[in-house]
Amino acid sequence: GFKCGIVGLPNVGKSTLFNALTQTAAAQAANYPFCTIEPNVGEVAVPDPRLEALAKIASSKEIIPTRLTFVDIAGLVRGASKGEGLGNQFLAHIREVDAIAYVLRCFEDDDITHVEGKIDPLSDYETVETELMIADLESLEKRVVALEKRARGADKEAKEQLELVNRVLPLLRDGKPARAAKVSDDERPAFDALNLLTSKPILFVANVDEASAAGGNEFSAKVEQQAKTEGAVTVVISAKIESEIATLPTEERTEYLEALGLEETGLDRLINAGYQLLGLVTYFTVGPKEARAWTIERGTKAPGAAGVIHSDFEKGFIRAETIAYPDYVALKGEAGAKEAGKFRLEGKDYVVADGDVLHFRFAN
Ligand code: GDP
Repeated sequence: GFKCGIVGLPNVGKSTLFNALTQTAAAQAANYPFCTIEPNVGEVAVPDPRLEALAKIASSKEIIPTRLTFVDIAGLVRGASKGEGLGNQFLAHIREVDAIAYVLRCFEDDDITHVEGKIDPLSDYETVETELMIADLESLEKRVVALEKRARGADKEAKEQLELVNRVLPLLRDGKPARAAKVSDDERPAFDALNLLTSKPILFVANVDEASAAGGNEFSAKVEQQAKTEGAVTVVISAKIESEIATLPTEERTEYLEALGLEETGLDRLINAGYQLLGLVTYFTVGPKEARAWTIERGTKAPGAAGVIHSDFEKGFIRAETIAYPDYVALKGEAGAKEAGKFRLEGKDYVVADGDVLHFRFAN
């Protein structure tokens, strides 16, 4: 599955947030059979109101959302790239995630030590990102000599990579992350293959005090400003409140949220933001038994999408019966869509669109 790493300095609220996420997941576990939780890895349901709308139309007995994995990556301190704290182990964990949620401390509490001595979320962000940039810089500098050698031969792949490396190195030396590099769609696979830490998409989590959960505070405002300049999203959240909400029964949750002036939990906002960040596409399968959401990467063709359900579906793929989500809803289901000519038969070259309601035909 797709993974979002929770990253930040110590004592900023990462574990509090992670525990709230897994507690919510644990509460959902009865409904969602594939929920597996390890100490620092948790799977959560991605809330999607479209799924409820589809289930209602098809009178589906069960609703099965798609899932997103969060990984609590503890141990980052200043000097991590030089082996301080958990050092390399920490960096290896970040390498494995698809996106990063930077948790920044935006709450004051004299009882909880700030490792850098003061509340300054932007400086914390810089500290963390600097460690990742140093690690990327060192990893590329190590690789560049070998790449140059290969590129002098007829190695096309090495040439392409070298060009990218030479584009990214000056940025890193200038204190900018690899994601700041201009990369064309054609170059994207080679760029991704460099597997850099600072090329991963990021979002900011401004962890505010309880009183600021609804409106944010001066610290989170600074984070939002910074995020804007980077084209990143900020989720303002109070990890402490979220951890309280996560323990409540569903009925009481809504009441509690209303009392705080919140429409949805910060966790739901975080999960959705993480999902958006990964640029993923959701398609649906809908029937009387269940309405279910599935996740694929953007650009996936119908057989690949079928393979997410079962490899047999991909191997024996014949066609995908397809109804776009808005059509399915407006025409009140498959029969209506058929009548209106909105039921399409798509072949193996069809690129699945977000919201497609699919039924795969396959041969064994
Ligand atoms: P981590 O080291 O980043 O994983 O941080 P923790 O989640 O362990 O949190 C460190 C301390 O800060 C704990 O005592 C938390 O209860 C506390 N904490 C986390 N979030 C908040 C918050 O929003 N407000 C307040 N007052 N304390 C918080």
